[in-house]
Amino acid sequence: MINIIKLNIKNGIIQNDALDGVPVIAKIIEAHGKKNVRTLKKMTEVIGITNHNTANSSPAADAAMHAKYLQNVENADKAYISVHLFVDDEKIVQTVPLDEVTYHAGDSKGDGNYKTISIEICENGDIAKAEENAKKLNAALLLTYPNLKIYKHQDWSGKFCPRRILSRPNGWQDFVDGVNGYVKKADAAQTDIPDWGIEPVEFMTKNKITDGKRLLSPVTRLEAIVLLYRTIKYIFKVFGKNI
Ligand SMILES: [Zn+2]
Repeated sequence: MINIIKLNIKNGIIQNDALDGVPVIAKIIEAHGKKNVRTLKKMTEVIGITNHNTANSSPAADAAMHAKYLQNVENADKAYISVHLFVDDEKIVQTVPLDEVTYHAGDSKGDGNYKTISIEICENGDIAKAEENAKKLNAALLLTYPNLKIYKHQDWSGKFCPRRILSRPNGWQDFVDGVNGYVKKADAAQTDIPDWGIEPVEFMTKNKITDGKRLLSPVTRLEAIVLLYRTIKYIFKVFGKNI
């Protein structure tokens, strides 16, 4: 059973220990000097999630190593690079609070850098597994912030990134479909409607007798009255009378 849920986020930092069994570790970069990684700029609006590949296939280049690398970048006061989250084949590491601007999209002060959450997918190990973990992370973020869109680095600057995904025919579409598949499964798991309930729920929702939410919660007397009222009103309408 897939266990992808809304994330518990405090001050931009994911509090969940794991996501569908994949450990989530916070290694937040300590701000230093010129703010090369920790921009300390609050995002005014978040419109999506930008996915990357690290372009480093060295076996040691996992998510934790990239977190160390970013701390070195911050301390060195030279390059300006930052990323919110790294995902490899066995873990997710967060390096910057999610509500802070990061420099990853190559579009300067554009929407990529200023308005999206950045995810780097590591290439050090089992790439298919790392991508699956990244899909789960994208899905959990979509469940948490339903208005976000899924982007790739290429959308912002034209760079061929995430290169592993883009180098496969239909690779990007497959990735996006996979993310949406996890979101759907998570939604279904939250309500867990048995087969015999699907048609009645569809009918009642379509005809605005119920909103189709909180399906497994108990009914109050007031809700029972409203459901009966809407049902009766619907039947009268079908037979051409208004009440
Ligand atoms: Zn990239």
